[in-house]
Amino acid sequence: MGSAPEVYAGLNDRLKGSAAEILFPTDGDKYTQAIARWSEHNIKRAACVVKVRSADDVTSTLSFIRENKIPFVVRGGGHSTSGSASIEDGLVIDLSLMRGVTVDKEKQTVRAEGGALWVNVDEEAAKYELATVGGTVNHTGVGGLTLGGGYGFLTGKHGLTIDNLLSVEIVLASGEQVTASSTSNPDLFWAVRGAGQNFGVATAFTFQAYPQTNPVYAGPLIFLPDKIPEVIAFVNKFHTANDGNQALMWGFSCPPPMNAPVLLTQCFHNGTEEEGSAFFADLIALGPVANLISMIPYAKLNSLLNSSAGFDGRKMFGGGAFKLPLDVGFVQSLFEEFLGFVQGKNEAGKERGMGQSLLLFETIPYNEVVKVGNDSMAFSNRGDYYNLATMFKWFDPSFDDEVRGFARTLLKKASQSAGVDQDEKTRSIEGVGVYGNYANADVPANEIYGGNAKKLGELKHKYDPENLFDRGTRLVPRPMVVVN
Ligand SMILES: Cc1cc2nc3c(=O)[nH]c(=O)nc-3n(C[C@H](O)[C@H](O)[C@H](O)COP(=O)(O)OP(=O)(O)OC[C@H]3O[C@@H](n4cnc5c(N)ncnc54)[C@H](O)[C@@H]3O)c2cc1C
Repeated sequence: MGSAPEVYAGLNDRLKGSAAEILFPTDGDKYTQAIARWSEHNIKRAACVVKVRSADDVTSTLSFIRENKIPFVVRGGGHSTSGSASIEDGLVIDLSLMRGVTVDKEKQTVRAEGGALWVNVDEEAAKYELATVGGTVNHTGVGGLTLGGGYGFLTGKHGLTIDNLLSVEIVLASGEQVTASSTSNPDLFWAVRGAGQNFGVATAFTFQAYPQTNPVYAGPLIFLPDKIPEVIAFVNKFHTANDGNQALMWGFSCPPPMNAPVLLTQCFHNGTEEEGSAFFADLIALGPVANLISMIPYAKLNSLLNSSAGFDGRKMFGGGAFKLPLDVGFVQSLFEEFLGFVQGKNEAGKERGMGQSLLLFETIPYNEVVKVGNDSMAFSNRGDYYNLATMFKWFDPSFDDEVRGFARTLLKKASQSAGVDQDEKTRSIEGVGVYGNYANADVPANEIYGGNAKKLGELKHKYDPENLFDRGTRLVPRPMVVVN
């Protein structure tokens, strides 16, 4: 047990006979790797990490947690920047040894264990010429992304990840193992699709998949910022020109080695090269400084952005919304504000050096997303608008607070232009305008779940009356459990 607190002494016994791995701070590299997260900002020194291998391991660990009143978190892929999957001194239920994926070719379904990454899903499904709506960076976890909603390149055609979720196998706070689907515990199924982190440990997800036999046309075009007006003219046409088979992620950054501002676009067309190059012809004709679009197998698509989302540094995601058509002057002003911050100095005169940050306009068609009502499940970010995301990256911990403050102000300003106001009474569009998976855990429940917050509070009392799962968006005002 090393320096682990006395309270963990009985854990080995509790997991006797299981292949789970129990790690403590004295376990060297294995422990250090276990507490690593996508953002250094979220590396916290847990007292204990339990790498579970089965739903039974989760049940046993939860019973130990309940009896000893141990604060804990659940770790899926470890990519959230809200800090909800890491903990100082408490216990981590780590799902990283549960990454198995199986495919039912006949039913066209994919079952992924709770700790799987999207690369596991994309590659296994591809063996059967199938694909489902997964994240656009394939080292992201299936768990967190799915439980909070899930946007991907196939969203234009098939909606959100949760719109394709058929069932979830979940261990509740009581330790009971249940399945949630439209026919089994439907109220729980309603809740987990958007607010899942609050309701238990998901040990497996089953998704609807779709035939994906063809390679896809995808890759980046990089422009200098003087092309902002022309690129926006293209984006404004994209809104009506797309047929759901395309997506365009675009935004601003100052990536190395030049560290100079550029306008990055990531193009996607699910079809032939001829169709793709015709669709993006006006953009290509603008003369990008780099054109790296090519035909690739679908299984490689979600790896294209991996390198721009590497594991070093402190990072924070933030979410807002924008509407098309966009006004060039408005985008210019957001770009300048963003640039002024990431390339500027703080009050103490320190260079921020945050050029690898990203202001991203996620132009993923939402026609399929809005076919589902905001009251159909917990997720409430469906409306006539697109997601705007910030991904700030920095190295100096003394910038933490100002990054948070700046991100909030910038996104609020941008979202208001889309008529998306955080205040429900003055909001002029349906949908909350904030993607929960980009928000911090301290954002109030009504800002993430709108009119669904009340029902979620009631279901929380039914399925987790002691508020054991208290790390996501807070659904009930209860203090956290602390070690005696
Ligand atoms: C580089 C990058 C790219 C991204 N791209 C996309 C994208 O294309 N589309 C999109 O929709 N989102 C995207 N996101 C946001 C992403 O959805 C969230 O960061 C999500 O939380 C990541 O899930 P995770 O399992 O990796 O994270 P974790 O930090 O492990 O978990 C996030 C939360 O979910 C909980 N959780 C995770 N797994 C389980 C489980 N099995 N059971 C119960 N609770 C669980 C954790 O306790 C935590 O509260 C991206 C994020 C990053 C960092």
